[in-house]
Amino acid sequence: MSKVPVLVTGGAGYIGSHAVLALKDGGWPVVVVDDLSNGSRELVPDEVPFHDGSVADGALVTRIFAEHGVEAIMHFAGSIVVPESVEKPLDYYRNNTVASHALVSAAVAADVRHILFSSTAAVYGAPERVPIDEDDPKLPINPYGASKLMTERMLEDAAAAHPFNYGALRYFNVAGADPQGRSGQVGKGSTHLIKIAAEAAVGKRDHVAVFGTDYPTPDGTCIRDYIHVSDLAAAHVAALELLTERPDENLVVNCGYGKGLSVLEVLDSIDRANGTPVRREFAERRAGDPPQLVASNARMLDKLEWRPAYGDIDTIVRDALSWEHTLLER
Ligand code: UDP
Repeated sequence: MSKVPVLVTGGAGYIGSHAVLALKDGGWPVVVVDDLSNGSRELVPDEVPFHDGSVADGALVTRIFAEHGVEAIMHFAGSIVVPESVEKPLDYYRNNTVASHALVSAAVAADVRHILFSSTAAVYGAPERVPIDEDDPKLPINPYGASKLMTERMLEDAAAAHPFNYGALRYFNVAGADPQGRSGQVGKGSTHLIKIAAEAAVGKRDHVAVFGTDYPTPDGTCIRDYIHVSDLAAAHVAALELLTERPDENLVVNCGYGKGLSVLEVLDSIDRANGTPVRREFAERRAGDPPQLVASNARMLDKLEWRPAYGDIDTIVRDALSWEHTLLER
């Protein structure tokens, strides 16, 4: 199998930086573009070529393609905060949909052969049933999910008309950190449960608010499918292998473990890892939270040369917590 040069957009961000590590560990030539609006330069290893700029800058990405002989793209750059997308929808359509259009146009012009796109379970909206299958209705309930779904559609149509294939990876709840401590979530204004709980465990916060205890679930709190960020990064490498080996096929796939955990179960895991319990405060529901999001990962297991390496909540939480300690020492 040939390991073609890969451009990682958003490679200084949380998931992108883990993908860079997975590619590098697997021997793939890799180059990063990131405008550092949310990313951190220090998450990208020094030996990886780094370009500070936007994927919407067609001249810049065209230069990068030529300079590094790029044949594949992993496209992570974008905006990811759901409530912000409701307040600033046009920013989300610009940063996620319009910027992707610029990137894909430049890629087509430069004959880049493979594009992997960072999509989300938010494309399903509030699903009627779990586990969610890839073919279930795509009815996003916020601009974030809609902006990602539009890009998926654009890729589908463009891949049918031009000589490239694509993958859209729909992430469920991504958490944890590189088990070797090389990267993790930096958290400017964290909103995600495990990150917040880890911050509370190391004393950066006083408590964790549990948003809603009256959902129609066994313990009344929301259920999510948490996947370790390094397992997700490995899934990207496996997906890229598939795209390069089967240039006539595309791939749309859920990324999760197919296992649901409640907010309280996650907090129990934090308490186990931390030794002392983190203070919980029961609060109102957070607007827009569906009661349950769990992936069917049958397709992921079937299509990809991939199996979870860190597939239990205690491992995810352990790595999130040790990264939080690393951040304290910085
Ligand atoms: N959550 C919570 N307290 C927090 C952050 C999140 O109770 O401080 C809950 C949230 O309501 C949801 C689940 O944890 O039910 C996962 O939320 P998160 O923001 O991590 O991911 P999402 O599923 O919204 O993408």
